[in-house]
Amino acid sequence: METPKWFEVRDLHVNIAGKPILKGLNLSINAGEIHAIMGPNGSGKSTLAYTISGHPAYEVTGGDILFKGESILGLQADARSRAGIFLAFQYPVAIPGVTVANFLRTAVNARIKADAAAKNGGVLPPQVKGVTLPEFRKTLRDAMKILRVDDSFAGRYLNDGFSGGEKKRAEILQMAMLKPQLAVLDETDSGLDIDALRIVSEGVNVLHERDQSMAVLVITHYQRLLNYIKPQFVHVLINGQMVEEGGPELALQLEERGYDWLREPEVA
Ligand code: ADP
Ligand code: MG
Repeated sequence: METPKWFEVRDLHVNIAGKPILKGLNLSINAGEIHAIMGPNGSGKSTLAYTISGHPAYEVTGGDILFKGESILGLQADARSRAGIFLAFQYPVAIPGVTVANFLRTAVNARIKADAAAKNGGVLPPQVKGVTLPEFRKTLRDAMKILRVDDSFAGRYLNDGFSGGEKKRAEILQMAMLKPQLAVLDETDSGLDIDALRIVSEGVNVLHERDQSMAVLVITHYQRLLNYIKPQFVHVLINGQMVEEGGPELALQLEERGYDWLREPEVA
């Protein structure tokens, strides 16, 4: 076997409800790289994102996903998150009754405690209490500034009545607080007007500048997001397989020519 890359999807086959959706998909990412996956609707982009993050409805029937040389397929979603894999959802869910601040603080503390326990043979050392409130407030305020949301945002119920732009900002706030090693952004541009798109993209860019070892996988149907988050590598996903790979110029080509030239010709 070849030496695995930092993050590697190998010949991945995934079924949903018994139907094959991903059909031998390959993808390699090194730490710090920004990759984009583009593809028409229904090609399997979200299926890949959910499968990477460990959603139980997605059945892996073949292949593997390796992170730093280890298969993550046996890990539940929370363990993958602790390992440093983050997914920003295409359709974030609302949690009425739970404020943005409480949600984020709970998530950050769960991460800190799980990490401490893992380093201590599975037992949480009693002195580990999680983040202090002043510390948490400071990091949150800083992240909110990057995403240009005002102070009242933290006190609102998560995604409850949020606009499309606010939902996506809440996703990137989570990313800012959890500091993943691999961030997967599924259609973070959907439902955003140009101002929101710019702010959300800037947020991602600032986080990447601050931690240049973080890898970002941007999944999008449209080229326009890639004007703001600049990928070094572009992959095209059609019908459950990668059909083309290139640099940023490939995204521009897709913008001009659409996806049809990359589809397999119909067999008569
Ligand atoms: P994309 O994100 O590229 O638009 P998806 O990964 O969401 O594509 O979907 C790929 C295919 O899987 C589509 O044909 C879609 O209809 C199907 N699919 C997605 N989710 C489900 C589901 N929960 N149940 C059944 N089929 C699904
Ligand atoms: Mg999708």
